[in-house]
Amino acid sequence: MANESSNATNLPPGPPEGEVLSTMRADGSRRWLRPKLSPGKLWNKRLVVAWALMALFTLTPWIRVAGKPLFLFDVTSRRFIFFGTTFHADETLPLALLVVSICLAIFLLSALAGRVWCGWACPQTVYMEFLYRPIERLMEGKHYQSPERHKMPKWRLVAKYAIFLVLSLHLANTFLSWFVGTDKIIEWTRQSPLEHPTPFLVVFVTTGLMMWDFAFWREQMCTLACPYARFQSVLLDRSSLIVGYDAKRGEPRGNARRLAAQGIEAGDCVDCHNCVTTCPTGIDIRNGLQLECIACTQCIDACDEVMDKVGKPRGLIRYGSQSDFAGEPKHRLRPRVVLYPLLLAGVLTALVFSVASRGEAQLEFLRSRGQNPYRTLESGEISNVVSLHITNRTDHPATYDIRLKGEGTLIKPQFPLEVPGQTGIDANIQVVLPAAGFHDGRKSVEMELIEGERVLDTAERQFLGPLFD
Ligand code: SF4
Ligand code: SF4
Repeated sequence: MANESSNATNLPPGPPEGEVLSTMRADGSRRWLRPKLSPGKLWNKRLVVAWALMALFTLTPWIRVAGKPLFLFDVTSRRFIFFGTTFHADETLPLALLVVSICLAIFLLSALAGRVWCGWACPQTVYMEFLYRPIERLMEGKHYQSPERHKMPKWRLVAKYAIFLVLSLHLANTFLSWFVGTDKIIEWTRQSPLEHPTPFLVVFVTTGLMMWDFAFWREQMCTLACPYARFQSVLLDRSSLIVGYDAKRGEPRGNARRLAAQGIEAGDCVDCHNCVTTCPTGIDIRNGLQLECIACTQCIDACDEVMDKVGKPRGLIRYGSQSDFAGEPKHRLRPRVVLYPLLLAGVLTALVFSVASRGEAQLEFLRSRGQNPYRTLESGEISNVVSLHITNRTDHPATYDIRLKGEGTLIKPQFPLEVPGQTGIDANIQVVLPAAGFHDGRKSVEMELIEGERVLDTAERQFLGPLFD
């Protein structure tokens, strides 16, 4: 952060000569961006959306459904709660379907609306542009874009970073509450860090990362690090919504009188660079669609204000598509906007079905390690020792038993087995089967997980035995 003071200058008009990135000079030094605020119609709408999202992000971990959090990504316990329903990490089907449906939704959104997520809803943009940046502008006052920023009283910088630190601490706690729950956060806050050094370290590191991101790393998260940005070239097509510059209307750019003196009829762009100085990623939208553009619409508001002043129609920079700006015919119905919704509908249906058909308990076979696959008893029967995993998906403890379907005997000293709510327990059993039932050294056996007389789940497994001619 120390470099910020020394390197900060007014933004040069447009990208510097020989730059490699919008945030890096040709000599490799950081080009600090201090985008000018351009209030306008779109900014006002984004402001409302951003504060609604910040409120949602902060308050959601506090919302309870039937005593459980609305969402909880409890990685340490390998439990995930969605809308009050608990899923365990071993429930691979619903979790896989959920991940696939999220990916498809992202593909569809990008194909239709481009980077609307980046500009309107991504936490990086929302917190940077609607919380940290406004505080920076407020604390630095007239020094914010001054070439003599280094002359700014030091107390302003100290106060700014102090506020950033408090906000980062709050954000870190909010972020963690999605993973550990608000009850734990409150508990940790009330205790000495010495009583819970690991969580304290996690909060400490997360606060540091938030501070580093919003005070130092900033737009580079979007332009260098974010994987979603890297995939834009394949997620978008020429009909996807983008923020673009109407070059047909805007060029040739420049002062109309000066161009007229050269016998050139000027376009609508007066080359004021307001769209550049307001851009939070430091690019010039007039150079065409760029990976760095997060579709934040600040250049639209900036340019509309200029168009109002020079008496030209708004929309020189506007929402459109690459086809629109190139004057090509519109293709609303493209293969991807038909295929993605169909796939998404199919996956969501499967997800709903898999969630609705979940039982209240699950029985799974695990192979016992370090055991002989089978043993022939003196009686001639075949004995297999296997491990079971029993998951209680209810919120209360339950007592389970195991029952064999078909011929054979179970030796199960751990049963009946009490399993606490939302917990999985391993248990070993010995399965003794008549030798005659084996074919090609295998026999399929089905077992039932029961509570009283209720069958809660069944599981089938091939047991090993001797090969008979
Ligand atoms: S080019 Fe315009 S829409 Fe894109 S990031 Fe810059 S200001 Fe935002
Ligand atoms: S704000 Fe509009 S008029 Fe000014 S340089 Fe950008 S495109 Fe041209």
